[in-house]
Amino acid sequence: MQNAKPLPSYLVQRFHGWKATTYAENESWYHRLADEGQRPRAMVISCCDSRVHVTSIFGADQGEFFIHRNIANLVPPYQPDGEQHGTSATIEYAVSELKVAHILVLGHSNCGGVQGCLDMCTGHAPELEEKTSFVGRWMDILRPGFERVKDAPAEDRARLLEKESVLVSLENLMTFPFVQDEVKTGRLSLHGLWNDIGEGSVEQYLPEIGGFRPV
Ligand SMILES: [Zn+2]
Repeated sequence: MQNAKPLPSYLVQRFHGWKATTYAENESWYHRLADEGQRPRAMVISCCDSRVHVTSIFGADQGEFFIHRNIANLVPPYQPDGEQHGTSATIEYAVSELKVAHILVLGHSNCGGVQGCLDMCTGHAPELEEKTSFVGRWMDILRPGFERVKDAPAEDRARLLEKESVLVSLENLMTFPFVQDEVKTGRLSLHGLWNDIGEGSVEQYLPEIGGFRPV
């Protein structure tokens, strides 16, 4: 592997800063984390977007959240076809091995992935329709969500589709038999959240009103 380069110096400096402060002040706690293994109570599925910071929002420390991030916080449908499914693998591990009690699906405002899906579904992003577009084929997961918002006013569609990305993922989670089993017995609960980055607010989906309300 000839292409790996040393870290840029700003990251080296930041690492040494962390080691000398945060780590040094909590060294025994880090050793305990290492020795005892992880027992996170919650799994989080959030977007890769660098502005989405689930551990900050919930004040979570190392060991608390088992986090999977992908473009637009999407869960694909259950598809046991022998192929490589990264998102499905993390869900299987979280539910069957770690036995998490909660799965939080966290969508967010100004999501580029969701905007791309909107552009693709309205014929404005032919490059995403190419078979070779990994992003485009990934965003196909959200097409059923687009069908539900396509008649809304154009200015509302992106936000509505961001929330649909959460709902589609919750629906697809329930297609996994091991998720279904745990939800039915009450050992696992699913939560749908949407974070407004600019406002610093979080809304949660409430089935009884069929919509999102501030937490
Ligand atoms: Zn996003």
